Amino acid sequence: MSVYVVGHKNPDSDSVCAAIALADLKTKLGVETIPVAQGELNPESAFILGKFGVVAPAVMTSGAGKKVMLVDHSDLSQSLDDLADAKIIGIVDHHKLGDVTTPNPLEAWIWPVGCTCTVVKAMYDYFGVEIPRNIAGIMLCAILSDTVIFKSATCTDKDKEVAEALAKIAGESDLQALGMEMFKVKSAVDGTPTRDLVFRDFKDFNMNGNKVGIGQLEVVDLAILDGVKADLEKEIQVVKSEGRHSVFLLLTDIMKEGSEMLVVSDDGAIVEKAFGKATENGKVWLDGVMSRKKQVVPNLEKAFAS
Ligand code: MG
Ligand code: MG
Ligand code: MG
Repeated sequence: MSVYVVGHKNPDSDSVCAAIALADLKTKLGVETIPVAQGELNPESAFILGKFGVVAPAVMTSGAGKKVMLVDHSDLSQSLDDLADAKIIGIVDHHKLGDVTTPNPLEAWIWPVGCTCTVVKAMYDYFGVEIPRNIAGIMLCAILSDTVIFKSATCTDKDKEVAEALAKIAGESDLQALGMEMFKVKSAVDGTPTRDLVFRDFKDFNMNGNKVGIGQLEVVDLAILDGVKADLEKEIQVVKSEGRHSVFLLLTDIMKEGSEMLVVSDDGAIVEKAFGKATENGKVWLDGVMSRKKQVVPNLEKAFAS
């Protein structure tokens, strides 16, 4: 029986590339393993796979009756809707431990590092399996993406060390240039429907019983979003009306190293509680904030709990 490796909803490059790499490793270890994704590739992921000539994973949204390994998440709200009908045999992740539980023991590799692919590289090393050049390339790009070219608060020395090792295998020498090439692709918004932009990198969380959606758009210059900002503000109202207590959309400027956050919430004081700064017309600039995982989710969870 094949195993399926799947990342979170609204798959990002780490979810896609870690699934591909882990499936390669597991298959070489003798377990037929298939990478899948819970949705279509975003432009950045499509660029990465194209650049290194790697086939995109099939889209899979049901795990019923299947053996699955989860990568890049362990929150039920981000996983397959029918995960309860699947058999989870492993988790490889770099986020806070979520609410996924299993009736049986499982293989778990959950490290406090900047990217799932950093953990997968350690797994290749542990099992003594060589990483193919093209897979090293996509893993490297996932690390550059998740750590925002090593600038994010989530980046660790381990991520840098692994990226260097992967770069050697992939034959990439200028990581800064490779990262910027990728983030330019990621920054392109022209012609993309507003709703797709909101959901491009969007995660739902359960915060003290409240459904809270947090999206993020990372761009090389916030001015790129000037023409679409008003539409984004309107769209998150709609997204909130679909059963959420709050929706936060981070517009992250990776050069200025901060984020403008667009906010709609049933609790007008939540942002001030979480960040010590109030919104003005539904927006607030958060200097130095680039990581949803490390600088936004914990603050909001605390604010929602108080
Ligand atoms: Mg991710
Ligand atoms: Mg990740
Ligand atoms: Mg990310």
